[in-house]
Amino acid sequence: MNVKVVSRILEANDRIAGENAGILRQKGIYSINLMGAPGAGKTSILERLIPALNGKRKTGVIEGDIAGTEDAERINSLGVPVVQINTGGACHLDANMIREVLPELPLDGIDILIIENVGNLVCPAEFDVGEDMKAMVLSVAEGHDKPLKYPLMFQKSSALIINKIDLLPHVGADLARIRKDALALNPRLKIFEVSSRTGEGFDSLTEWLSGLR
Ligand code: MG
Ligand code: ZN
Repeated sequence: MNVKVVSRILEANDRIAGENAGILRQKGIYSINLMGAPGAGKTSILERLIPALNGKRKTGVIEGDIAGTEDAERINSLGVPVVQINTGGACHLDANMIREVLPELPLDGIDILIIENVGNLVCPAEFDVGEDMKAMVLSVAEGHDKPLKYPLMFQKSSALIINKIDLLPHVGADLARIRKDALALNPRLKIFEVSSRTGEGFDSLTEWLSGLR
């Protein structure tokens, strides 16, 4: 019985995700579902990336959080359109939440829509929202065991942004093992190593993001 209910939820979600994808495609928007654990640095990475794009690719952001507007305020201060979704407890975004907020964004003026999912390494990977691509952030402070413990997100993501590499000497995470385990789960994964604190590694990430369409 439980299985039936869950599959119906996912079916309804996929149908709405397809509708969202149609709207975004019609507007010529490339969309990225950005996932990762709380504190991995998803918003901090956007604070580096969006100014680096320098208006060459106009960015819009949907911020997903259980509560609060702090992340949306940080993005808003960069001068790009942003809308905050508060899930009120739900630990992931779903397609219906995205459908509800799309009319709040100036879609005609957006080239790249970044959807920052709720901080969570598990179920955000299970719910398509209509995105062109899933990407994830993993900070080295979370440890090198995460690919093998949370395989689905690594398998579903097209890009892995390894953040906080400035902390490597302090946290003792094995970067080579993260890369090896992640690539074993997903050989096509594109991997970036960055520090949102120092700005290291953002050139190649920005170049990659500017080329998406
Ligand atoms: Mg955030
Ligand atoms: Zn969830």
